[in-house]
Amino acid sequence: MKIAILRERLGGETRVAATPDSVTKLVGLGAEVSVEKGAGEASRIPDALYAAAGAKVEAGAAATLKGANVVLAVRRPEAKSLGGIAKGALVLAVMDPFGNEADLAALAKTGISAFGMEFMPRITRAQVMDVLSSQANLAGYQSVIDAAAAFDRALPMMMTAAGTVRAAKVFVMGAGVAGLQAIATARRLGAAVSATDVRAAAGEQVESLGAKFIMTEALKDASGTGGYARELTKKEQAAQAELVAGHIAKQDIVITTALIPGRPAPKLVTKAMVESMAPGSVIVDLAAERGGNVEVTKPGAVSVHKDVTVIGTLNMAGKIAATASQLYAKNLLAFLETMIDKEKKALAVNWEDELVAATLLTRDGAIVHPALAAVPK
Ligand code: NAD
Repeated sequence: MKIAILRERLGGETRVAATPDSVTKLVGLGAEVSVEKGAGEASRIPDALYAAAGAKVEAGAAATLKGANVVLAVRRPEAKSLGGIAKGALVLAVMDPFGNEADLAALAKTGISAFGMEFMPRITRAQVMDVLSSQANLAGYQSVIDAAAAFDRALPMMMTAAGTVRAAKVFVMGAGVAGLQAIATARRLGAAVSATDVRAAAGEQVESLGAKFIMTEALKDASGTGGYARELTKKEQAAQAELVAGHIAKQDIVITTALIPGRPAPKLVTKAMVESMAPGSVIVDLAAERGGNVEVTKPGAVSVHKDVTVIGTLNMAGKIAATASQLYAKNLLAFLETMIDKEKKALAVNWEDELVAATLLTRDGAIVHPALAAVPK
């Protein structure tokens, strides 16, 4: 059993799919591990630490992949970077297949079994493998750090001899994994925090973190399936907009995290709402990768709209790469362990397992995931 860890090739990707800790565990499971030279550099992991953990450091993708039957990556590797890969090799990464159908089809043609880690079911057994949660949690934290850095006032209330400084007001829209961590972080920094969500169940979680929950009476509950939100009707959207418009005008910092599975991010903050905020206010749009929750967000950029800073950073978790890699590597290791026979020290994939079935996107040259059934093969 040989496991290869590639250097990430997508521009701006700072994370890596294995750490010295996870390499030690993989070696303990009987694997031979190869790591591409420089793979951990942006996460502050020098090649020497991988080598000390028992990995062989190889120059270039081809040497790293030679003879590998498992590949670990953060982003979907391009088919061309997997040249020479053994048919049937397992590739674990965030595959991001929607809108990238041709790339996935090319990957399928190499004969690999591609697992999309973002398809991991949100069930108790799979919590330790949940990359969406591990990374969203860090993104929520980092969004507050970036907002605080861009904000030219203090966040906590301060009573000083020279006068009292009021606590900054932070409003978090979308109280899922990222939003709840943003609330907790803003509270730790002393801000006065409020939050909204369209799932009624989020209210209790928001309040348990010491923030005020804001929800329109007209909405009641827009929970969809699997704990996710459903898209709002036009009438519900109008009720939500009316509720938040007045509130946003009084906020110093707004952090938006709202997503709906398989849909573009809902637009929650209009240009007029941004313009209603005081000069120097800050917005962080964590949904920028899916089009953004804020009308004026420029995905991948920090912009200023009428004196309001709008942060549209992509890959927010990648800004704290060392921590993000540590948790991501643990997620992958936990999943891979379920596919290894510990006594025989060999791969033993149970293709019937619900976690395998939920995440397997390609196998034997074809795209096999039901959600991708319409993709040309
Ligand atoms: P997500 O990233 O899909 O969405 C972020 C948040 O935006 C969600 O809370 C959603 O309700 C909210 N949202 C959507 N439309 C909105 C709108 N118009 N206005 C305001 N908010 C809006 O969600 P997520 O962070 O991945 O979490 C989804 C759910 O899954 C949560 O209930 C979470 O607790 C649950 N979860 C469970 C597990 C597990 O059991 N293993 C793991 C992780 C998350």
